[in-house]
Amino acid sequence: MLCETNKELAAFVTKARAYAKDGKVADYIPALGKADPNDLSIAIQYPNGHCVSAGDVKKKFTLQSTSKVISLALAIMDWGAETVFEYVGMEPTGDPFNSIAKLESNVPAKPLNPMINAGALVVTHMIKGRSMEQKFERLLEFVRELANDQSINYCQEVADSEYRTADLNRALCYFLKQHNRMNENVEQLISLYSKQCAIEMNCLQLAQMGTVFAMDGINPVTSKQVIPKDVARICKTFMVTCGMYNASGEFAIKIGIPAKSGVAGSIMGAVPGRFGIGIFGPALDEKGNSIAGLKLLELLSNHYKLSMF
Ligand code: GLN
Repeated sequence: MLCETNKELAAFVTKARAYAKDGKVADYIPALGKADPNDLSIAIQYPNGHCVSAGDVKKKFTLQSTSKVISLALAIMDWGAETVFEYVGMEPTGDPFNSIAKLESNVPAKPLNPMINAGALVVTHMIKGRSMEQKFERLLEFVRELANDQSINYCQEVADSEYRTADLNRALCYFLKQHNRMNENVEQLISLYSKQCAIEMNCLQLAQMGTVFAMDGINPVTSKQVIPKDVARICKTFMVTCGMYNASGEFAIKIGIPAKSGVAGSIMGAVPGRFGIGIFGPALDEKGNSIAGLKLLELLSNHYKLSMF
């Protein structure tokens, strides 16, 4: 077992936290700008219930792009992989997560993968539900089931802040609508997507979700197969190839753990067959990944030989 004690893990956190000063908190969604750049916390959740953690692990953050793995799992469970991948591709991109460039240069226009904004917007629009409220309720219920916590909700302030400033995401939607990749009312979809990104939790809960992916879709707390094995496999593969946006190649080489980041500073990791990881460190590098969080994972991966490659 890696890191038996909180103290052992805390030493890695102290080392990695020094890198936070080289990063910057995201402020293009104004409410995220309030985060403390020096925060860094981590939880490692084993399927047998043992949890090791360090830092202020009760501190809440919003999932942002980390939610893209969850919405993808739900959309595939709703429609099947074949249908979902008619609308979104499976290839990594060398462009930033919110880029519109490849949508225009690829014919037919189809988002390259579900981990970039264009792809995630298509995926979110596919979640089944008779209304936007019902789609969101289903997603939130799913998150609660994965994290084993019925009290999880979304942060209204962050959702409103993103909704007011999401014009680039609106542009992606209008482009996709024009090219028949979605048929949703754009304002309603942006509102749903902003709420999805604003789902709020702490590291302990994030690590629980990571464990479900690590254990091939089985929630070890309930022993229920909450995600079909094949869907969990698809999600983990995207976490490896696209989870860190256009830094995924370097991440695979240096760290080698299926993981997904978000601009509020979260990283959800899933070490196959072993444990889930939840990290929060809001200072980001220039590609939008938690700078100290990445360092922390690199230190742990090197020390405990966690790379799957
Ligand atoms: N809500 C954010 C956005 O769409 C998520 C981006 C991210 O975490 N990379 O811009």
